[in-house]
Amino acid sequence: MPISDEDLRNAVTGAHARHKDDPGGKNADYIPYLASVPSHLCGVALATTGGQVFKAGDADYQFAIESISKVFTLALAMEAHGPDALREKIGAAATGMPFNSVMAIELHQGKPLSPLVNAGAIAAASLVPGDTADAMWANILDCQSRFAGRRIALSDAVNTSEQTTNFHNRGIAWLLYSYGRCFSDPMRACDVYTRQCSTLVSAVDLAVMGATLANGGVNPLTKERVIQAANVPHILADMVMEGLYTGSGRWAYTVGLPGKSGVGGGVMAVAPGILAIAAFSPPLDDAGNSVRAQAAVADVARTLGYNLFAPAA
Ligand code: GLN
Repeated sequence: MPISDEDLRNAVTGAHARHKDDPGGKNADYIPYLASVPSHLCGVALATTGGQVFKAGDADYQFAIESISKVFTLALAMEAHGPDALREKIGAAATGMPFNSVMAIELHQGKPLSPLVNAGAIAAASLVPGDTADAMWANILDCQSRFAGRRIALSDAVNTSEQTTNFHNRGIAWLLYSYGRCFSDPMRACDVYTRQCSTLVSAVDLAVMGATLANGGVNPLTKERVIQAANVPHILADMVMEGLYTGSGRWAYTVGLPGKSGVGGGVMAVAPGILAIAAFSPPLDDAGNSVRAQAAVADVARTLGYNLFAPAA
């Protein structure tokens, strides 16, 4: 049976109502700004490849994109260098380790394995075209904006909070550089990576950004082609393998859609050719994924019967 607008709306409002008060988890606090975001916030949004948007709860609240930015910087680096170079330079596999693991880097002689962990994302940022940090940053901000279909902005508060506490990521950048796996000045790559994590988005923005991937790289609202269609499957494959870090296997097993999380509390999932689902709520599980956002996105996917591995459902 075709899915009606009413079904889509009900799936979003129902998932929000069922999960907005889910207990458990804790705001990230290693970035001071994130500890201060009200924990009760919860928003859910869905965007279709036809350009429809449905939302519930705090879906317009703007929060830090954090690691969900890794998807869009990967897209930008892939546009510039091609999927084969990305797989060779960074890798396309699961690490089985936390997102900021140094051990994962050491175990593979400096190869990050995935562009969606911090090491791989810093390496991806180092591959973004631009002769200066500001030129690279302009390209990243423009890319995030074209995916979202509106001008995305840096939060000075988030960026300052991260730039003054990101010592671990600076260590990762230097370690990559020592192995020849950081492709620009490492502190420049780390600076640009930190800025890309510090932009503000809403659950609605994330749904539209995901729907641009679902739509083969064309933004369903602006109709602009943001990336080549040929690169989309590689990006979605990376999301399946590492999008939710050590939670990626459970997510693939139980939800079956490429997803990406951020420690700001966002989760985005893509049903290729159909739609994207996004949710936001700050408290995180041990892997760094939002407890309520995961539950809400999974609920919408299940209600609508979208699972990549069960396409007839
Ligand atoms: N900016 C954060 C960091 O580098 C992003 C981590 C995340 O969202 N998983 O640690």
